[in-house]
Amino acid sequence: MELLSPAGNIKKLKYAIHYGADAVYTAGRKFGLRAKCLNLSYEELKEAVNFCHNNKKKIYVAVNIFAHNSDLEKIPPYLKFLQKIKVDAVIVSDPAIFALAKEYIPELPVHVSTQANITSWKSAEFWFKQGAKRVILARELTISEIRKIREKVPGIELEMFIHGAMCMSYSGRCLLSSFLNNRSANRGYCTQPCRWEYHLIEQTRPGEYFQIEEDKYGSYILNSKDLCLIDRLLEIMAAGINSVKIEGRMKSLYYVANVTRTYKEALNLLSAEKDIPSDLKEELNKVSHRHYTQGFFDKFDSTTTQFYNSSSYIREYQFIGEIIKTKENSIFISVRAKFNLGEKIEIIFPDRQDDLTIKVNNIFDEEGLPISYTKPNTIIKIDLENRIPLNGIVRKKISGK
Ligand code: SF4
Repeated sequence: MELLSPAGNIKKLKYAIHYGADAVYTAGRKFGLRAKCLNLSYEELKEAVNFCHNNKKKIYVAVNIFAHNSDLEKIPPYLKFLQKIKVDAVIVSDPAIFALAKEYIPELPVHVSTQANITSWKSAEFWFKQGAKRVILARELTISEIRKIREKVPGIELEMFIHGAMCMSYSGRCLLSSFLNNRSANRGYCTQPCRWEYHLIEQTRPGEYFQIEEDKYGSYILNSKDLCLIDRLLEIMAAGINSVKIEGRMKSLYYVANVTRTYKEALNLLSAEKDIPSDLKEELNKVSHRHYTQGFFDKFDSTTTQFYNSSSYIREYQFIGEIIKTKENSIFISVRAKFNLGEKIEIIFPDRQDDLTIKVNNIFDEEGLPISYTKPNTIIKIDLENRIPLNGIVRKKISGK
């Protein structure tokens, strides 16, 4: 079963691959649904394909907006470009873009996006008959519905989300952002109004806000928890899923790396008929996340998938830097957040056995002068006792957590 990770930019893509992804999904600067993450330029897309293929990994590119007439003539040249640089598949949701892909790049595999809301075997069969290689199932399916789809449409590849943020509405069927902010989710500009705090106003009392629930934070009536299916991977494998997907093209490189690494190790353990240890699962609590849910895996039950008290993230650890270079026993860190001399920091690596916790005994600035704390967006050096592996990411426990 393929582990598929998000790649919101070229750096995150490389971390996803280093930390165990079998494939990544990304988008170019146009026609993808995550306009706020910068996405990849044409040059970066070429670089990304080469990087993935040199590492024997796959790359899928989302072209999953719902196109308007004015988009149509711009799409075929872009699809041809993607075919030319040899991406492994395009991800589409709009039948118009699907038709253009079949017309202009018939050899390139097409995956049908979760935005197309594939909630039944008939829908999966429909796309299979149209020539889709894979469908990305709607998040709103139970495992028994997924088994039925596998049984009824054996020839199609099935991909499903196993981790990450969820919408409170069916993907692609939400107009909140468009309505409240004039930023359409279906054009890649969702401003996440489902996470906002709402109050009730009585028509004749403008300016008087009534809380919908008796809670000092107001009410987050639309706020979905985050999906986490690490405890259900065996059932997912047994159901004949081909690819499991982590949500999060907008998340940090630390999030992408650590969640990818956790699921990769879990899948490897299960394949070797071993259990997933609790300290491995605990890693999923060390990235910024909302309360977790198993979504609709067992039954369609919105009472367990929403969190009404707050939309804030739970954050026990802070991503504080990325190791950009090692030289003998010295490490050079591109700093994301402040840390002090004498503090304990953790460095994680693609192989969890290499992870280190160290007390910071020295910090040097870019001129090589000793300093007592770091500043974001600077590069610092720390001398360690031993040489460490490549691609380390630095985090620290938030005090009091
Ligand atoms: S507003 Fe919320 S539910 Fe709607 S598309 Fe955006 S994230 Fe999804």
